[in-house]
Amino acid sequence: MGAGGRTDVPPANRKSEVDPLKRVPFEKPPFSLSQIKKVIPPHCFQRSVFRSFSYVVYDLTIAFCLYYVATHYFHLLPSPLSFLAWPIYWAVQGCILTGVWVIAHECGHHAFSDYQLLDDIVGLVLHSGLLVPYFSWKYSHRRHHSNTGSLERDEVFVPKQKSCIKWYSKYLNNPPGRVLTLAVTLTLGWPLYLALNVSGRPYDRFACHYDPYGPIYSDRERLQIYIYQMQEYLQYAMAFSVLPWQKDLPGWCVFMEFHC
Ligand SMILES: [Zn+2]
Repeated sequence: MGAGGRTDVPPANRKSEVDPLKRVPFEKPPFSLSQIKKVIPPHCFQRSVFRSFSYVVYDLTIAFCLYYVATHYFHLLPSPLSFLAWPIYWAVQGCILTGVWVIAHECGHHAFSDYQLLDDIVGLVLHSGLLVPYFSWKYSHRRHHSNTGSLERDEVFVPKQKSCIKWYSKYLNNPPGRVLTLAVTLTLGWPLYLALNVSGRPYDRFACHYDPYGPIYSDRERLQIYIYQMQEYLQYAMAFSVLPWQKDLPGWCVFMEFHC
């Protein structure tokens, strides 16, 4: 078997293996979403406030410990090591804070607890700490889930038609090109999407997650986006004032130090 089995593949099937268009399934699956839900044990759908908050405390405790070590001990390291320590800190802290981001994402899906208001408060606080506009993204992200893969209605990661693929794409279709694409996506992709709708759904006018009047939102959704913005401005005001536990640094330095 093994390699011998592969040689028995008929030529027609072998051709379909290398032709990605022929591999893409387009038939309706022989099961429905409700059938899948029925076979998942009921306890998997029960939301526990205690368990959800335990994840928040767990992640924030680790994030605080990392921040404490970085700000109190990195300057004691010899020069080359301290320059190496900060990028390692950014990567590790990024992984931990991604966990916090995911908890706020679950709040947006009302999966954190049985209480919608509690979910929105926790999601707003956690996402705002990561500079994510909670309500704005909650609404666009919900539409992404209900229209995933749609050329017309998906909100992000909209599939590209062949005619719309850029001329330089062929130069990125190799390992270094993919690494470059991944690096740009992982560093700039998220802020570019939020601020400029890069890779987002095409609208007939400028779309931005920080603009309550933008075409992404309905009138009902705009009110909650205003609440986010007021809360965000309050956060900026606190950050730009002098924080009491870092008397030698202006607030905006501490703010950038924590978020970078
Ligand atoms: Zn989601």
